[in-house]
Amino acid sequence: MSNRTAVISGASIAGLSTAWWLSRTGWEVTVIERAAQFRDGGQNVDIRGVARDVLRRMDLFEAVAARNTTETGTVLVDAQGAVTVELPSDGAGGATAELEILRGDLARTLLDHLPDDVHFVYGDSIAEVVDTSDGVAVRTAGGLDLQADLLVVAEGVRSRTRSLVFREDEVDVRDLDVTMVFGTIPRTPGDDDRWRWHNAVRGRQIHLRPDPYGTIRAILAYSPGDDVLEAGREQMLALVRARYADAGWEAPRILDAFETSPDVYVDQLQQIRMTTWHRGHVVMAGDAAWCVTPMGGGGASLALTAGYVLAAELAGSDETEMALAAFEAWMRPLVEDVQDLPRGLKAFAYPQTRPGLAVRGVVDRLMTSRPFRPLTAKLTQVAETDRALPEIRAFGGRSG
Ligand SMILES: Cc1cc2nc3c(=O)[nH]c(=O)nc-3n(C[C@H](O)[C@H](O)[C@H](O)COP(=O)(O)OP(=O)(O)OC[C@H]3O[C@@H](n4cnc5c(N)ncnc54)[C@H](O)[C@@H]3O)c2cc1C
Repeated sequence: MSNRTAVISGASIAGLSTAWWLSRTGWEVTVIERAAQFRDGGQNVDIRGVARDVLRRMDLFEAVAARNTTETGTVLVDAQGAVTVELPSDGAGGATAELEILRGDLARTLLDHLPDDVHFVYGDSIAEVVDTSDGVAVRTAGGLDLQADLLVVAEGVRSRTRSLVFREDEVDVRDLDVTMVFGTIPRTPGDDDRWRWHNAVRGRQIHLRPDPYGTIRAILAYSPGDDVLEAGREQMLALVRARYADAGWEAPRILDAFETSPDVYVDQLQQIRMTTWHRGHVVMAGDAAWCVTPMGGGGASLALTAGYVLAAELAGSDETEMALAAFEAWMRPLVEDVQDLPRGLKAFAYPQTRPGLAVRGVVDRLMTSRPFRPLTAKLTQVAETDRALPEIRAFGGRSG
């Protein structure tokens, strides 16, 4: 019997994990990536919960651990930089998890360990999808025609192929009214190896996190957010400069450094909720299907896990639609667990007023006090489940 064939759109965590697992279970895989070349960039992500088991099954746990960001803990700081609260970071799933890695380093690790016969098409994207009784036909903007048994759409939160397959009323895009600006900035002698987090009034957060390259990853996150997706770099930086003019702590340093940062980018947080993740021979995976945003956390863990669960369910069944339904049934509880944000979380995370900030400080101290510490530690747990991962019965047995 000839191998089953898959087209995967998107070469990041969800797409590469799926490519890894499908190819190891006997599929012929073509990955289409819109970017002209492999995308290395991105900020800190972590691997938690069941995704740690998936990494172990890939034999990549040590490889990921070796590229750790070097972050040792997470602290909240006041306007002078003094630590007010230390968040629990002991164990595998603390505020700073055992496995902290830059998104690009995680993607690169997956890429480096893919079997050689996974085929890549860069600088192209899907323009047309036709699902038939025995497969799916894909035409790309570059004029490539591909026939496959399966199309996996792993294009991230702003997926375009999603709307070629699913109706508008099947995709709920929820704007969380939070803007985040990220950038790599020079390290200074005052920096250390902790994630330092400062809250300022009017819903402004400032974050500094170490990376393994001797630089610092800075994030400015604020709510209410700005409409910045269409803004150019200069316009966006001007908006953020105005917003953070009196935010204190390290804001002036970060704003100055962002002017020359090589990779500064901005995002508006949007959750994606779909009524179904599969239709015919097409399945959605990762942020394209269920973006949880950093407010929920665990996006990388869910994307990594999705590749394994999808391949396992497909290996266990000749009926594609049944396997895709089983994939969805397995993943959905993990996703919903992080998408259903606790009521009041945004107000807590982004205090607007001085009294609000003061209340936040009291609650922070209470939550990190000895009696509440175990409960607080649970808040950073994502992708946790008592269910066993589906087993891959018929392992295709290809080596990397
Ligand atoms: C600041 C920040 C902090 C985060 N922190 C965490 C964290 O602590 N823990 C965690 O687990 N997760 C975190 N995440 C989320 C995590 O990075 C994502 O959830 C995860 O990378 C999802 O992977 P993905 O493959 O689904 O999508 P993406 O990483 O968005 O990749 C999509 C890929 O598809 C490509 N693409 C897009 N459109 C097309 C197209 N039309 N055709 C072909 N290719 C296309 C893109 O170029 C990209 O390569 C964080 C995210 C951010 C921004």
